[in-house]
Amino acid sequence: MNLLTDAWIPIQQQGKIQKLTLQHLLCNEQTGELCLPRDDMELACLQLLCAMTQVLFTPEDKKALGQRIRQPLTEIGYQQAIEEKQGWFDLNHSETPFMQIRGVKATAATELDKLLAGVADGTNKAFMNPFGLGEALCGGCSAIALFNVANNAPSMGGGFKGSLRGSTPITLIIKGKSLRQTIWLNVLSEKSAKSMMPWYQETCSQVPNYLEPISAGSKIPASQIGLNRGLLWQPAHFELLPPEKEGRCSCCGCSGEVYTGFNKAKFNYTVEGIWPHPLSARVFKIKKGEKEEKFPSFTTTAPTWTHLARLVVDQQNAKEGHQAAPVLQQAKTFMASDKIQLIVGGYRNNQATVLERRHELFSLAQGWAQHGVVIQQIITDALAYKTALRKAFYLFAVGIKDKVHGAGVNLCDVVESNYFQQSENVLHTSLASVNFSQPDHALRQQNSQLKRLAMDLFEQFTEPYRQEPKMLKALALARRSLHKSLKELEPEGAES
Ligand SMILES: [Zn+2]
Repeated sequence: MNLLTDAWIPIQQQGKIQKLTLQHLLCNEQTGELCLPRDDMELACLQLLCAMTQVLFTPEDKKALGQRIRQPLTEIGYQQAIEEKQGWFDLNHSETPFMQIRGVKATAATELDKLLAGVADGTNKAFMNPFGLGEALCGGCSAIALFNVANNAPSMGGGFKGSLRGSTPITLIIKGKSLRQTIWLNVLSEKSAKSMMPWYQETCSQVPNYLEPISAGSKIPASQIGLNRGLLWQPAHFELLPPEKEGRCSCCGCSGEVYTGFNKAKFNYTVEGIWPHPLSARVFKIKKGEKEEKFPSFTTTAPTWTHLARLVVDQQNAKEGHQAAPVLQQAKTFMASDKIQLIVGGYRNNQATVLERRHELFSLAQGWAQHGVVIQQIITDALAYKTALRKAFYLFAVGIKDKVHGAGVNLCDVVESNYFQQSENVLHTSLASVNFSQPDHALRQQNSQLKRLAMDLFEQFTEPYRQEPKMLKALALARRSLHKSLKELEPEGAES
């Protein structure tokens, strides 16, 4: 099973799913979208396709990239590019199997469902996993699962190293008009790669670490990891057991050769510093003149839009800041006057346990590249209405010491989660339709909807307590607080 030549990419077209080769995908104007039963596997598949295309066909500059985005590759061009890298992408290669190390010594084999983040960690059933998912996987799904665990999921815990980006980074992918375009929009030109990693040139001929393994206990500066090596970084030692000849893939459903287990072994080393990933924003703090960087991740239940400014906007003050993903920096140079669609995904975890997975699509209206301040404003305003609501419910619960007796019922979290659920569409609409050079109208519209939502939620959640004489003072206090906060959020001179 070779990812360069076999048909492993599941595409849905007119209700039917068929598997395509990478060559077919890149050399034709293929329609249809990726289709796998789990959204995280779908995102990982897309990410793998971007990484492979980057590694095989890094365009020289913006012009060459533009050409790629517009026109499919030629079959000869494809064949030439893959010639030397056949041994990188073969799942069963006798010496250098894709994302694996030969000869991993384990006391017992691990079932393959351990490779599907969140399926076999025992505690996590917050999202649906079809029964039996992960028992056996076809070659394509096994490759995607290996890549996903190496890049996006928390490590296996207990001494197993996690991805170069930390345990559960947020991944951002620019969506094009077709899958082929999407892939190219997330490939960096050499020029962009150099500005992302100044060590690009001297490391560009490196091979992945499953071809040239790192030694145990070594300390590796991130600045010695080249683009190809980093994109295909395997942090752990895994080896799939030889496939069984006949079976049904419990992820994509296809019949044929399936894998049912793998060996894993602990392996320790340290990567020093942050390896800049093309599909990730970075946040930083400045301490003693030095930048301390990390990759943002979903650490709370707050929805994805609350993170959008730091994923999309570059900003820095004396103490901290954030920088958009390199593919987005690159897109700013040629997509600034277009709308842009962004796929944002990642897991939320508690150590090795996956609590939640996200895979969402955002549209940003044209002007997104120059008007980061407006994106920030849209989000800040929406969060301010949430804060007003929380504050009111906090006062309702605890009252004011020696003056107003609190109701003793804390509804802050449940009200917040209702606010987030019900404001989601408002935010998507604002971001997709705002006139960035004259945003006042869109902001007013958004904020009046959010104000109405805040008032409705207040009434809805305090309703059961209105007949409780002991709570009336707390209720009045909370209501006054909400109205005061909402008034403060009105723009100067607006009618209330
Ligand atoms: Zn499969």
